[in-house]
Amino acid sequence: MALRFALVIEPVGPEDEGPDFAGTFRTIDPSAPALSVGELSTQRGDGIFESIGVVDGHPQETQAHLERLAHSAGICDLPAPNLEQWRQAVTIAATHAPQQGEGVIKLILSRGVEHGPAPTAWVTVAAAADNTSARERGVRVVTLDRGYGIDTPATAPWLLLGAKTLSYAVNMAALREARRRGADDAVFVTSDGFVLEAPTASLIARIDGRFVTPAPNGGILHGTTQLSLFAHLESEGFETGYATLPTRSLREADAAWLVSSVRLAAPITAIDDFELAVDAGLTASFNRYLLSPRD
Ligand code: PLP
Repeated sequence: MALRFALVIEPVGPEDEGPDFAGTFRTIDPSAPALSVGELSTQRGDGIFESIGVVDGHPQETQAHLERLAHSAGICDLPAPNLEQWRQAVTIAATHAPQQGEGVIKLILSRGVEHGPAPTAWVTVAAAADNTSARERGVRVVTLDRGYGIDTPATAPWLLLGAKTLSYAVNMAALREARRRGADDAVFVTSDGFVLEAPTASLIARIDGRFVTPAPNGGILHGTTQLSLFAHLESEGFETGYATLPTRSLREADAAWLVSSVRLAAPITAIDDFELAVDAGLTASFNRYLLSPRD
């Protein structure tokens, strides 16, 4: 999707109280070259990002995304972002998103330019792709080995496993592998057989009437959509929880979904050719909730 808007941010420290950060923003032509060739984000994928869904001009779950940006920065030893500065950038960006229909705002914080300004940061806005098919017809998934054990995040923090880094080449390769195997999407599992997440989404399963998702214990991202949906489900009287899920437990699920900020809730129709039931009514109610204005 072509970018509609781009804003370069001159990052300030978290102690800067502003209150108005407009002077640190520079609107640029989103179709013109903008990055220095010395950018470490492009040379090494050394940076972090967030993708915020926008519905009818309203950026969804901004606070949760800003908090995860700060969490990722901490894991990656990047300078702590000033969340009020980023919030103001999101507010400006949202005015350039489609005011009817869906859009996406991306926040990018890069290590910066080698021997140059560091860190560097920018925000982009685009219209969202049409995700109706995934939401209504669902997705077939295959499980793919992520190549590490359930304990690895604790013993090897330099793998940056809980951070949303710009290094998504592995995630994109997993999606291509899933398509080669005739599926629409993948679910990463640990080499010792536990469920993690999809390459661009969290997994939620309903097992014995309870909604469960893998614990975000450092090996996966803590999804803002999953958090929001669990709060909604709890307010409706459903039981939710975090669990260590063996891969085989997915076959006991009476329904499962991949959830993420832009595609929202996509019901899983099959896991490794094992057909799963789809609760079309519940899925539609999830997406109605996820499309309602959420802060
Ligand atoms: N896990 C990964 C690896 C992701 O890339 C994403 C979103 O892009 C998610 C989970 C879901 O996160 P969110 O619901 O905040 O979009």
